[in-house]
Amino acid sequence: MPELPEVEVTRRSFAGRIAGARIGGASLGKPLRWPLGLQPAELEGRTVLQVRRRGKYLLLDLDRGLLLIHLGMSGSLAFASSLPAPGPHDHFDLQTSQGQLRLHDPRRFGAVVWAESEHAPQARKLLGKLGVEPLEDGFEAGRFWEALRRRRASIKQVLLAGDIVVGVGNIYASEALFAAGIHPALSAARLSRPRAARLHHAIQEVLARALERGGSTLRDFSSAEGQAGHFQLEASVYDRAGQPCRVCGSAIVCLRQGQRSTFFCPSCQTR
Ligand SMILES: [Zn+2]
Repeated sequence: MPELPEVEVTRRSFAGRIAGARIGGASLGKPLRWPLGLQPAELEGRTVLQVRRRGKYLLLDLDRGLLLIHLGMSGSLAFASSLPAPGPHDHFDLQTSQGQLRLHDPRRFGAVVWAESEHAPQARKLLGKLGVEPLEDGFEAGRFWEALRRRRASIKQVLLAGDIVVGVGNIYASEALFAAGIHPALSAARLSRPRAARLHHAIQEVLARALERGGSTLRDFSSAEGQAGHFQLEASVYDRAGQPCRVCGSAIVCLRQGQRSTFFCPSCQTR
């Protein structure tokens, strides 16, 4: 599943090249998670001003309205001067004066949604509950701790919920908790202020490192340049059940939390 670093790497790979492009047409494949919300022909003649990211959404600001793109479980974007005819898993094409943007999404949990503005109901529904961006100034250790104190759920599940800090998905939550020495099942409310500060730092470190490497290891991910975008994340715990901890040698344990697998070291990570 593309997580925040992959989405940001995707954004950087085409944002500069599509900015200023005039839309010549758009076409849809099979239905995605949510409907586009307008007739594709209505996009013709509009201009792409810039591409921003909020959480795991890419926001294509147009001169009128915006397109919100989510890659879902298996989506990837391609942007090139010309692309082959759409295949069975290509579900959104945007032809512009500077190239063609395509959403490829075999599992179709992704979406492209049009909204008149970020404040329109369609956009608010998707963006309204997102927490602060982990790599921006709004993510501050003291406020992070204050927010965690109000939550009884496990710290891992609170991170995944995304309403305190956005974009810390399963891989990065597991890795950050390991780096901070925190047991994933610990109630968020029971985290001391110094431990919350360590976790705050670890989240930023883990995401920044992943961004530098261009995202993590993902079968379905490719950057919008159409090149393979696979970058091996040297995971400390994620997907390493039974293997020795890189710090202490204990066997990494896999725990089910909610519907998700959490990986942790029973010696390095404490309650
Ligand atoms: Zn360990």
